Amino acid sequence: APRIRFEKISKSFGLHQVVKDLSLDIERGEFVSLLGPSGSGKTTLLMMLAGFENPTAGGIFLDGRRIDHLPPHRREMGVVFQNYALFPHMSIADNIAFPLRMRGVGRGEIEERVNRALEMVQLSAMSGRKPAQLSGGQQQRVALARSLVFEPTVVLMDEPLGALDKQLREQMQLDIRALHKRLELTVVFVTHDQSEALTMSDRIAVFNRGNIEQIGSPRDIYDRPQTRAVAEFIGETNLIEGTVKMTGTDGTSVEIADGRHVIVPGSNSLAVGSRVHISVRPERICLAARGISAAANALPAKILDSVYQGDHLRVQLDEDAFRFVVRTDMRSAEWPVGADVVAHFTPDDCWVIAA
Ligand code: ADP
Ligand code: MG
Repeated sequence: APRIRFEKISKSFGLHQVVKDLSLDIERGEFVSLLGPSGSGKTTLLMMLAGFENPTAGGIFLDGRRIDHLPPHRREMGVVFQNYALFPHMSIADNIAFPLRMRGVGRGEIEERVNRALEMVQLSAMSGRKPAQLSGGQQQRVALARSLVFEPTVVLMDEPLGALDKQLREQMQLDIRALHKRLELTVVFVTHDQSEALTMSDRIAVFNRGNIEQIGSPRDIYDRPQTRAVAEFIGETNLIEGTVKMTGTDGTSVEIADGRHVIVPGSNSLAVGSRVHISVRPERICLAARGISAAANALPAKILDSVYQGDHLRVQLDEDAFRFVVRTDMRSAEWPVGADVVAHFTPDDCWVIAA
């Protein structure tokens, strides 16, 4: 049996169905992120797994045992909430000890385990302080220590890093990833930050309106999005609409708005006449001056805007039918606004999505 199984789970609040017939298996030791826009049902799904919300329909299983009737403390899952939810009047040590007291663990053992948890998040020196006397990042680490102190093997985290500044957030991403590996934890991690999900996850479940639009490895999700919503939500992309004109193993020809053709990889699943979106990532497009003969796909365009971003230039192109975004590396030429250029890319830089 998988470690965690959601089987046809639905959840409604009144008439509003926020999770819709969702099924998902998570394996032992996996790090799975739930990624999606605000309001797409991520927190609700996590709260049903933790036991703070009941499904309207469907079953939740842990190692093949049905658990959706069990109260939260009987599920033995560590939970880190969005807002830390530390007890303000208790010391850091008492906050971390709380789950152990709830479980009737003896004094001596509590002290030992709390000390170990404090060391793990490098806050031993702060054990006597109150939460308000700690920075946001430190409070976040206390919440993490508290979720791990009773040694759960499943940990649920709801946007735990949302309140931290970029540098600390990136450090904590690595720390959580390392803990996940070292303690062999199964982690379900909610985020709306796509780069965070790409960095941390074994698999990403992309949410859209109460269900999973696509699930796969970070590479699957970024390089092989199955729907337009996934392509647009994960990273930035250029979508070109067109109609399949000719198919073949060497390449497929797609006619786009102005009558031009774009060659995409060969496929035997695309029917002539079908409508598609071609997704081309900004970093896959090269710019050249007009008049230079280019490879298969070359679209003439004008530079609309060019912004220096330190490690790359972000260039916007305008053509009657398209707006393109291109990322060029800093070694390439400066492209003045208004310049006429050709945007080119190979068939392998194109990813086709059924419209
Ligand atoms: P996410 O975490 O993806 O931002 P949520 O799961 O928090 O989304 O919310 C999904 C939808 O369910 C939202 O429209 C939200 O307003 C609604 N919702 C969440 N909790 C409740 C509740 N307790 N009562 C009524 N509506 C709720
Ligand atoms: Mg949420």
